[in-house]
Amino acid sequence: MDTPALFAGGRLCLDFINTACMRRGVEIEFISDGEELMRWLRMAEEVTGTQLCDQREYREGMLSQAIELRGALHDLVHSAIEQRPPSAESLQTVNGILRAAPAYSQIGYERQGFQESHGNSRPEDQWRMAIAADAVDLLCHSDLSLLRQCECPSCVRVFYDTTKNHKRRWCVEKCGSAPKAAAYYRRKVAKAAEAHSKIVEPAAGDALNAGDLRLQ
Ligand SMILES: [Zn+2]
Repeated sequence: MDTPALFAGGRLCLDFINTACMRRGVEIEFISDGEELMRWLRMAEEVTGTQLCDQREYREGMLSQAIELRGALHDLVHSAIEQRPPSAESLQTVNGILRAAPAYSQIGYERQGFQESHGNSRPEDQWRMAIAADAVDLLCHSDLSLLRQCECPSCVRVFYDTTKNHKRRWCVEKCGSAPKAAAYYRRKVAKAAEAHSKIVEPAAGDALNAGDLRLQ
């Protein structure tokens, strides 16, 4: 798997939505079975530093829960990008997960001092609770104008633009270079066509041709 592309969303919940994407017009599914889902969760844990897998084993039902959550988050995030209200069903799905597994704060003490950690009443649901909680933070407490879909026509990934000038247009560099290459090709063809028309254009001093044209 291409890790930078897989975690190009810049937010856990967006990376999770991006596990279903497109490449050159073909749909790609990164969590098509339990093993792939667990692999993605472990990778996400490493990349984002969020604890996701309390238990390392795949449990029955996790995959359908993941697909349901992803579908709901996809609707919520796209409603924000498209500035339309989300479906009540999507809100219900995410809120149901948040309600079923409330997280609580814990105080720890280490050499550096007090440390806050988060516990969960249903450790087996830690993974989807963390993804849903990240969506709450993104949708309710972040600048939604920085939430975007990749501008590459054959890409559907979403990302949160944290660049300094907020002008990020593509999820990964590769997506930006495809339209650039197409534009370069178009310019090259236009230039070649222009050069060709100059060669076949009648010379300025060609009186006979000019006269012929006036007589018509
Ligand atoms: Zn892209």
